[in-house]
Amino acid sequence: MHCPFCRHPDSRVIDSRTTDDGLSIRRRRQCPQCGGRFTTIETASLYVVKRSGVMEPFSRDKVVVGVRKACQGRPVTDSDLAVLAQTVEETVRQTGASQIDANEIGLAILGPLRELDEVAYLRFASVYQAFESLEDFEASIAQLRADHGRTGARVPASGETDSQPR
Ligand SMILES: [Zn+2]
Repeated sequence: MHCPFCRHPDSRVIDSRTTDDGLSIRRRRQCPQCGGRFTTIETASLYVVKRSGVMEPFSRDKVVVGVRKACQGRPVTDSDLAVLAQTVEETVRQTGASQIDANEIGLAILGPLRELDEVAYLRFASVYQAFESLEDFEASIAQLRADHGRTGARVPASGETDSQPR
């Protein structure tokens, strides 16, 4: 940025430190032309807009915490979750937006979570998409089965999922 005193187009960083919350970097700069000193603050320009309207910096940790609940008892490791959170961050950063709805984070989680574990995916989707009835679950499971058919993946036999005879 230009020197705020003389508009010189360049400045020299004389000190650089991370703020206490770890979310931004403060740089002390000096203008090589007029010698004026000023401070710039650098933050990652990706904010999540929550349903309440509150904005907070995007956090992979929060993605992991949200998804981990859906993965309880499932064969999903911490490193799986770390990779998933990274994928989610890449997806939302690729939109180029500096603010993103919490809703869109949820959408970005669904795809990679489904790859990871379908049961965890259904749990997460049931909360996130506010499933209201068994029919909603059945529709999602039918979709999973249909997609298995398309990709040639193994389709669970009906006896594996229906414990009650009809
Ligand atoms: Zn200057």
